[in-house]
Amino acid sequence: MDRLKQKIREHGIVLSDQVLKLDALLNHQVEPSLIMEMGQEFARRFQGESITKVITVETSGIPVAFATAYHFDIPMVFARRKKTLTTDADSYIERVPSFTKGIVTDIMISKSFLAPEDRLLFIDDIIANGDAARGLLRIIDQAGCELVGMGVVVEKSFQKGAQTIREQGIRMESLVSIAGLEDGVIQFDS
Ligand code: 5GP
Repeated sequence: MDRLKQKIREHGIVLSDQVLKLDALLNHQVEPSLIMEMGQEFARRFQGESITKVITVETSGIPVAFATAYHFDIPMVFARRKKTLTTDADSYIERVPSFTKGIVTDIMISKSFLAPEDRLLFIDDIIANGDAARGLLRIIDQAGCELVGMGVVVEKSFQKGAQTIREQGIRMESLVSIAGLEDGVIQFDS
């Protein structure tokens, strides 16, 4: 995904040694053709896995999860972060710390959208410490679904999230891997 890497080089803003602002391409503004390319790449990597649903967490996981589901022609389900009047009372709920907000939030998915026979592909925007991902993994566990793997647009390999998830035996694919952000410079793994 050279185009993605180039976009990150051009528009990524290093806020600290830990945080890379990607509002211009992932977290505030999105370019549909680039997002669709990401979805196509995830669909290519996970083809033949008989995936029945793509799953993600709102908000920033939604565009790329949607694009991936579109390529497979299967539904996409996103975990919601806010309870509303229409939230299904019969939901799986997990509490997760938020990396960027510095608070703890609940994520929830209606039980009606996950069945034990589902084979899920979990797509997300960025993995840092892996807290958000672990929350969704617990929901997948509760629902008794099979997790085929996980795809993230950006893996920050200097934080431990992706590694710990791989150590659990989960297949984790990233489109771009960032080794560090020291001195305001984005270092890619490859
Ligand atoms: P984790 O739970 O893996 O620590 O963090 C995951 C979530 O926090 C991501 O879905 C992403 O929205 C946000 N996040 C983590 N690190 C960064 C970062 O460096 N930049 C941005 N923009 N968001 C991040």
